[in-house]
Amino acid sequence: MTIIKNQSLKAYNTFGIDVNAELFATWNSVQDVIDFTQNPELKSKTRLVLGGGSNMLLTKDFEGLVIKNNILGRELVSKNENEVILKIGGGEVWHEVVLWSIAQGWNGMENMSLIPGSMGAAPIQNIGAYGRELKDIFVSLEAVHIETGEVKTFDLEACAFGYRESVFKNIYKGQYVIVSVTIRLTKTGDFNTSYGSIGVELEKAGVKKLTAKAISDAVITIRQSKLPDPVKLGNSGSFFKNPIIPAALYDELKFEHHGLPAYPAEEGFMKVPAGWLIDQAGWKGKRVGKCGVHTKQALVLVNYGGATGQEIFQLSERIIADVIQKYGIELEREVNIF
Ligand SMILES: Cc1cc2nc3c(=O)[nH]c(=O)nc-3n(C[C@H](O)[C@H](O)[C@H](O)COP(=O)(O)OP(=O)(O)OC[C@H]3O[C@@H](n4cnc5c(N)ncnc54)[C@H](O)[C@@H]3O)c2cc1C
Repeated sequence: MTIIKNQSLKAYNTFGIDVNAELFATWNSVQDVIDFTQNPELKSKTRLVLGGGSNMLLTKDFEGLVIKNNILGRELVSKNENEVILKIGGGEVWHEVVLWSIAQGWNGMENMSLIPGSMGAAPIQNIGAYGRELKDIFVSLEAVHIETGEVKTFDLEACAFGYRESVFKNIYKGQYVIVSVTIRLTKTGDFNTSYGSIGVELEKAGVKKLTAKAISDAVITIRQSKLPDPVKLGNSGSFFKNPIIPAALYDELKFEHHGLPAYPAEEGFMKVPAGWLIDQAGWKGKRVGKCGVHTKQALVLVNYGGATGQEIFQLSERIIADVIQKYGIELEREVNIF
């Protein structure tokens, strides 16, 4: 493992925050991770495991070791006439795997096209979009315990996936490095076009025969029209989660605030779109110094160039306070703060 000193992280996070890592290294194989766990000096350092840096806000220089996961690999584990099982290296780029799988004629990832980041980070918050989540295609993952070096397999149940949640975000936070993810894709179409404007987009494109490629193209078009491209405008996608509140509370709030939208979540709960709350609190499109709330999507905070992580964090604090004041609902950040 080659260690670089004083590495700028600007190119390693999609917010484009210019902070430095005291030490920086990459893992290119599972053995690299295991070797790391056997090195007491390196292991004792404060560390940050980095994928694509698309779900984090860096608020200060990192005093410790930042390690980028570059473990590649796309292995066909098994196949039959209906499905394939694939083991994908944690450092593979999610969207590249989506496009590759579609080109092979395998279905299941198409609705999650264009989500930035790495395969290894996908289970951390059970990524999802347009009616599909990682858990829908998930078989298992392999992770290395950072203290012991033990390689452990987690199946679907062990990951306890929820809405932008998994055991790796709570009880096992910071304890494991996800080195590979095994997924199941189908050869037969079990498509979901019911979510958002996928149907409208397919119609616009004149699609006659539904394919994973057609759905992926539709999702990409929709996403490009709504979400800022991090290469052009720093951001980390949805900054906040959509709050899930008891149905009884929703009934009370809806009485007070006409038009408050919500969708059924788990039994007895409703999911309220955080973007709507932020918009109604007057934040959509607002700019504060070098950062702000995106003009088209109030859930997305943006760096207009040169903003610090602290400035973006302070902006998020103000938004949370205003939404509490107006609706009594506390927004939770989806983005990881370091
Ligand atoms: C424009 C844009 C759109 C987005 N749209 C969506 C969306 O539609 N749906 C969605 O769910 N998310 C979305 N996101 C968020 C982001 O793409 C996902 O959360 C993605 O999974 C993050 O991957 P990453 O590799 O960039 O993770 P990073 O930001 O590098 O890391 C995120 C967290 O995971 C940890 N981590 C990373 N890799 C590993 C590993 N191998 N083992 C253990 N821990 C690890 C990090 O330490 C950190 O805590 C969007 C982001 C952007 C910028």
